[in-house]
Amino acid sequence: MLGTRSHLRELQELDTALRGGRSLAYVYDSGRADVQVAAAEAVAAYAGSNGLDPSAFPSLLRMENELVGFGCDLLDAPRSVVGTVTSGGTESIMLAVQAARDARPDVARPRMVLPETAHPSFLKAARYFGVEPVFTPVDRQFRAEVGAMAAAMDAHTVLAVASAPSYAHGVIDPVAWIAAAASAKRVPLHVDACIGGWILAYADQLGLVRPAWTFAVAGVSSISMDLHKYGYTPKGASLLLFRDAAGRRPSYFTTAQWPGYTMVNTTMSSTRPGGPVAGAWATVQALGDDGYRQLARECLDAVDRLARGIAEVPGLELVVAPDATLLALRTDGSCDVFTLADEMGERGWYVQPQMAWHGHPPTLHLTVSAATLPHVDDCLAALRSSVAAARAAGPARVDQGILALLDRLDPDTMSDRDFDGLLVAAGLAGPGPDSGAVEAVPLPQRMASISVLLDAAPPRLREVLTARYVERLYHPVRR
Ligand SMILES: *Cc1c(COP(=O)(O)O)cnc(C)c1O
Repeated sequence: MLGTRSHLRELQELDTALRGGRSLAYVYDSGRADVQVAAAEAVAAYAGSNGLDPSAFPSLLRMENELVGFGCDLLDAPRSVVGTVTSGGTESIMLAVQAARDARPDVARPRMVLPETAHPSFLKAARYFGVEPVFTPVDRQFRAEVGAMAAAMDAHTVLAVASAPSYAHGVIDPVAWIAAAASAKRVPLHVDACIGGWILAYADQLGLVRPAWTFAVAGVSSISMDLHKYGYTPKGASLLLFRDAAGRRPSYFTTAQWPGYTMVNTTMSSTRPGGPVAGAWATVQALGDDGYRQLARECLDAVDRLARGIAEVPGLELVVAPDATLLALRTDGSCDVFTLADEMGERGWYVQPQMAWHGHPPTLHLTVSAATLPHVDDCLAALRSSVAAARAAGPARVDQGILALLDRLDPDTMSDRDFDGLLVAAGLAGPGPDSGAVEAVPLPQRMASISVLLDAAPPRLREVLTARYVERLYHPVRR
C-alpha cells in the first residue's frame, strides 16, 4: 500500500506542478489548500459511484442539480434554463452541437457558423456528428466579425458559435451582436464560456463590467462553462446549460431496444464517474460566492499586474489587451517563444507556446490563476531573464536539411519510414534496433527543437506530424 503511494508520488514528480501558481496552462490553482483537500476527499468518497442511474445514486442527482442551479445564478438564467454536468468542456460542446443538429431533422446537410478562433472542440464535434463547419474571419483584435457571421448563416445553419473568451487570445466575441444576427436568421447561438465564464461572472459582480454574453442576451441558446477551470474543481466537470428543456432534449440518448434496463444517458458516457461531480460540488460549497469573488479579484489583479509588467519587458509585448485572465504574448523577433517557454520552464514556470497562425507570428499563452498573484514579480523577473537568455541563444532555427525534408513530406501519403527518417534526422530518436524502425520515442528535455520544426510545417503537415509523434509516445510498456 505504502509502496504504491510513494511510487505514485515519485511518478508525479515528473509532472507540471498542480499547486503554487506557476503553471500557466492546463492547471487552475485556487491556492486554497483546505478547499482542495475537501474536494480530493469528495472525489475519493465517490470514486465508485455511478451517475448513470439517478434512482440508484440520488445524491449525485442532488449535487448535479445544485451545481447547475449555481451556474444558472451566474449566467442570468431565466427560470426556463436547464443543464447537465458533463466531463469537460469538450463534452459540453459536443453535446451542444449534437443537440443543435438533432433539433433540426429537416436540415439534410447541417452547417455550423463559427469564428476561426473558436475552440477545436467544435471542429471535433463537426467531424463526429457530420456538421459542416463554416469558418468566419476575426478582426484585428481577434474578435469575431459580426457581418461575416451574419452573411454565413443560412437555411442550413443549425448553430452559431461565440467565445467568451477565446482560448488563444483571451478576447470576448461581440456576443450581443452575433446573437441579434442569429436571432434574425432563427439560428441558435452557443456561447463557449468554457474557460472564462466562471471568472467573467464574478468580474461582473466586482463591477469590472464586460460586454454582455450570458442568458441576459436574448438569442443566446446554450452556454458551456467548465467547473474544472475557473470553478477550481478537480478535473472532469463542466456545465452545459440550455435556455429551455426543449433545447436540451435532443442531447439525451435513450433506448429500450436491448434486453437490459431502459437506458437514458444525459451525457456521452453511460457509466458516469461520481467523483468529479462530488469534487465539484464540494469545491463550490466550500468557496461559495464570497470565495469565488475573492479568487476572481486576486486573479484579475494578477492579470493587470502581469500585463503592466510585460509592457516593460524589452522584446516582449501583449498581442491584445486581455478581456479575461488569458494573456497572449509575442516577441519582437530578437528571440522566439519556443526557446522562451523552455527558459521559463527552467525557472519553474510552465507557459505554453502557440504556433504561427494565418500570418501572425507564434505567441506565448499564459492562463493566470488566483494562486499566481503572490508570484507576479517572480513571474516578471523570470520572463525578463528568459527573454535575455533566449536572445543570447538567438531564435531557434530549423536545419536546412530538415526544411527540405519537410518540403518533401506529403501529409496524406507519409509512410512510417518517412516519419522515422524525420525523427532520426531531427535528432528526436535514434534508429530502431532491427529494420531501423523507431517504435517509441522519449519526451524531449526541451520542447523548442520540436516546436520550431512543427512551426515551420504547414498546418496539415503539422497535424499529421504531431499525431505520429504522439503515436510513438503512447507505446505499451510490457512486463
Ligand atoms: C478548455 C476549453 C474548451 C474545452 O474544454 P476541455 O475541458 O479541455 O475539454 C472549450 N473552449 C474553450 C474556450 C476552452 O478554453
